[in-house]
Amino acid sequence: MLDYPESFRELIKQLRRLPGIGPRSAERIALWMLQSPRARPEEFATTITRAVQHLKNCRLCGFFSEQEICLLCSDPERLGKELCVVEMATDILPLERAGAFQGRYHALGGKLSPLDGIGPEQLRIGELLQRIDAEQPSEIILALGADVEGEATAHYLAEMIAPKGIKLTRLAQGLPAGGGIEHADPITLQRALLNRRTYS
Ligand SMILES: [Zn+2]
Repeated sequence: MLDYPESFRELIKQLRRLPGIGPRSAERIALWMLQSPRARPEEFATTITRAVQHLKNCRLCGFFSEQEICLLCSDPERLGKELCVVEMATDILPLERAGAFQGRYHALGGKLSPLDGIGPEQLRIGELLQRIDAEQPSEIILALGADVEGEATAHYLAEMIAPKGIKLTRLAQGLPAGGGIEHADPITLQRALLNRRTYS
């Protein structure tokens, strides 16, 4: 049966490994890469190789960096301010872009999930406790997910951090911006009511 040449089939095979890419999309992308004058596939290949060689996770916070220590953690202005604990390194950028926070971050690399075999040792909790001792943040903010595992992780961290005597807070939960009451689920409404604050 007639098929594409071997090297081209291999390219399609590699593209299919990308998340969300099915066989038809892989074929379309492969054709575009090799036939479109705008594709510049060599540049693409070099960029991937460079990213793989240079990109690592910051030794302190876990965010992406080309150095041992990322830009945020190297900024002396941020030392000793709040330390914001998140689940994943990818949570850091949205919080930073929100522009409401001046301190440092710490990504745990996941959340406690005993059923999936993820206990405290699998997360960067030991590193967090060491950082707290070394950096003495003014406050620790738990910015974890509102699901069962996120709650369990927050609870566990709260117990570990309490003896250190540092102010510990967690993100407020409530109505999403632009969201109406009628579309909110009962848990969100319950938390929005519990976390209500004085009108100012
Ligand atoms: Zn960092």
